Amino acid sequence: MSENPLTCEEVVQQLFTYLDGDVDDTRSVEIDRHLEACRECCSRLEFEKRLRKKIQGSGTQQAPERLYRRVRRILDQS
Ligand SMILES: [Zn+2]
Repeated sequence: MSENPLTCEEVVQQLFTYLDGDVDDTRSVEIDRHLEACRECCSRLEFEKRLRKKIQGSGTQQAPERLYRRVRRILDQS
């Protein structure tokens, strides 16, 4: 096992890939571990999950880009 913990920045960068299930197992475990320990990233993940569900539930094929960008900006400020 690599003793190379991910930084918050790395986790955030890979959050979408992680949510898509496109990360490999090792990476996925590393992200899981970080999320368990890091409240900030954990709530960020929950937020992204909810946002995705909302976007998917709205029935629109395209993600509302503008909303998405605005939300990300709010997140980046926190
Ligand atoms: Zn973190």
